[in-house]
Amino acid sequence: MQTLKELVFFSLADFLRRISSPARPEEVWPQIEKHPLYRHYIAKWHELSPRKQRKAWEKLSQLIAKVGYATRPYCIRCGECCKNGSPSLYLEDAFLINSGHLPKDALFTIRTGELAYSNEEGRLVRAKTELIKIKEHKGRQCIFFQEEDNKCEIYPHRPLQCRVMACWQPEEFKALKKKRPLQRKHLIGTNTPLWAVISLHERRCSVTELINLLRQKDKKANERLQEMAYYDLQIRHFLKENFQIPTQELEFYLGRPISTLIRLYQNAV
Ligand code: SF4
Ligand code: SF4
Repeated sequence: MQTLKELVFFSLADFLRRISSPARPEEVWPQIEKHPLYRHYIAKWHELSPRKQRKAWEKLSQLIAKVGYATRPYCIRCGECCKNGSPSLYLEDAFLINSGHLPKDALFTIRTGELAYSNEEGRLVRAKTELIKIKEHKGRQCIFFQEEDNKCEIYPHRPLQCRVMACWQPEEFKALKKKRPLQRKHLIGTNTPLWAVISLHERRCSVTELINLLRQKDKKANERLQEMAYYDLQIRHFLKENFQIPTQELEFYLGRPISTLIRLYQNAV
């Protein structure tokens, strides 16, 4: 069985390899070994409960990341951040859409209450507010990421989140929390016929009700879910026919179809 010291050392070596650091683990190891956090846990590890050991490991992993990134404090255009989730948009990004650099057919809306992957927490969490994101494919990869040459197709016009992304400086990324997320109302306006349809959709196809129904798992709940999915389809059709909205833009205007949400969430709620 590996000792804690070996585990931390191998994790450091693995981390340096993953971020293509020019440093060797042996060169960096003294910084970990002298660090008060490491010294504290190495002395106390066997006295900690499994729960406290998990917490301690999280802190040690953060220390490994901090020390590791200090050896490579620049972007190597590896594209890992683009492969692990597309950006959410902020008010500062509205001009990209209004100027046509970021087309609506490349976006989708995560409605309030939906389950969305949180990079910070590493799991699905309920969205506290509405978010607009760039669409993803192949799992969570941003659709603008070009795998052949590890490049961003819209690099000069990439959103704020991508511009501040610096994996070696996670605190810059955390500062985004203070920014206001871009939402449909900012782009459509609330005093428009289109907004009236969106509001109706929010009422008749509410995410909160959808999740409650999925939790109930009974016949009546299933019937209501089917009704909701049917109504959602009708509104999508209505937008296409009466507002000439292309099919590819519907996930921006109405979020993902109810049938998709049912499939995604039925085992997660
Ligand atoms: S910022 Fe993104 S592309 Fe640049 S090194 Fe970090 S993960 Fe790679
Ligand atoms: S918009 Fe460009 S930089 Fe941002 S995640 Fe997508 S591919 Fe990466």
